Amino acid sequence: MDLILRNARIDGSTDLRDIGIAEGRIVAIEAGLAAEGETLDLGGRLVTPGFIETHIHLDKSCILDRCRSEKGDLEEAIEQVALAKKAFTPDDVYARGARTLTKAILNGTTHMRTHLEVDPGIGLRGFEGVKRLVEDFRWAIDVEICVFPQEGLLNNPGTDELMVAALKNGARVVGAAPYTDTNPHGQIDRVFEMAKEFDADIDMHLDFGADTSNLDLDYVCRLTERERWGGRVAIGHVTKLSALGTKPLSEAAKRMANAGVALTVLPSTDLYLMGRNAEHSAPRGVTAAHRLLHHGVNCSLSTNNVLNPFTPFGDCSLIRMANLYANICHVGAKADIEECYRMVTSRSAALMRIDDYGIAVGKSADLVVVDAPDRAAAVAELAAPLYGFKRGRRTFTRAPATLNAPV
Ligand SMILES: [Zn+2]
Repeated sequence: MDLILRNARIDGSTDLRDIGIAEGRIVAIEAGLAAEGETLDLGGRLVTPGFIETHIHLDKSCILDRCRSEKGDLEEAIEQVALAKKAFTPDDVYARGARTLTKAILNGTTHMRTHLEVDPGIGLRGFEGVKRLVEDFRWAIDVEICVFPQEGLLNNPGTDELMVAALKNGARVVGAAPYTDTNPHGQIDRVFEMAKEFDADIDMHLDFGADTSNLDLDYVCRLTERERWGGRVAIGHVTKLSALGTKPLSEAAKRMANAGVALTVLPSTDLYLMGRNAEHSAPRGVTAAHRLLHHGVNCSLSTNNVLNPFTPFGDCSLIRMANLYANICHVGAKADIEECYRMVTSRSAALMRIDDYGIAVGKSADLVVVDAPDRAAAVAELAAPLYGFKRGRRTFTRAPATLNAPV
């Protein structure tokens, strides 16, 4: 075999097993595996499939040094990034995206959906830079591109053609930010049209804000049912749900579950941008994804922005994002803490419809080893990822910290 991972605690099971890997795939899972090849003894540490970012912006990451971030609200972030974006070149996007991708890989991420902006200001320069990243980092991570109109679609002539050009040229998912158009439903209609034309999945920025009088998610659920796109539509942020009481929240959740619309919560950005009008006792503004899971909605947690005016933080650790979410949203039950881990692994895989994922014979060996006994402990203790593997090849190594006590 090419690689044997001995004494692995698979998904937190109490029995330790060995995982045999050949030609990039898992070929055996058993205790005391009789095989030869390069061997790594994991000493009972947790092994799970690699982490998945379902929603991250590589093209506008790491631009904090070029932007003002004083008010810290959504309007300022969009305005500042629109200004900075004018100077983006494919090489610049590549260099900043490479920095962000490297951090993601070092934190055990093996799959990613990156949201990417096109409009007459940036043209396809961001797309060109990210396409090169997709190729050059394929050895460690599979990245798919979701193209979307951050500065408006119907209100911004020329954007539609650029989205279509990106979809013809490798973008696999079509996104939206309906609040950027005076006719948000018109933008949603057009995005569904594009999805059908290109047989693409949909992943929209939706219902960002605190005003619950008008939710676009009802319209998105209706269209998802009408166009039979259930299981292929995700919506991100949806912070308005965080301002709903228990009954309307469960009604919205049932609506999403029935339509097959998944939710991505972006804890860091939502916490940073929401509640800016409050002088004190600012609302958290982060939707309680684990409560939606109880109604059958599939949910993921993701990083969204890294070191830009939307979120001036970020180390691309999805364990940190799961831990942050658990803190903000009052997650306490062990089963719900485990779900926080699933929302950055298996639930994210379901959202992105990645079938070749999981620890089973025949699956691609895309794995992460975490310095914890189980998923709940990994989230609770912000456990360190120690090794990552992509198609059976080791992508990073992190030595566990050691204590230098006096002799
Ligand atoms: Zn986003």
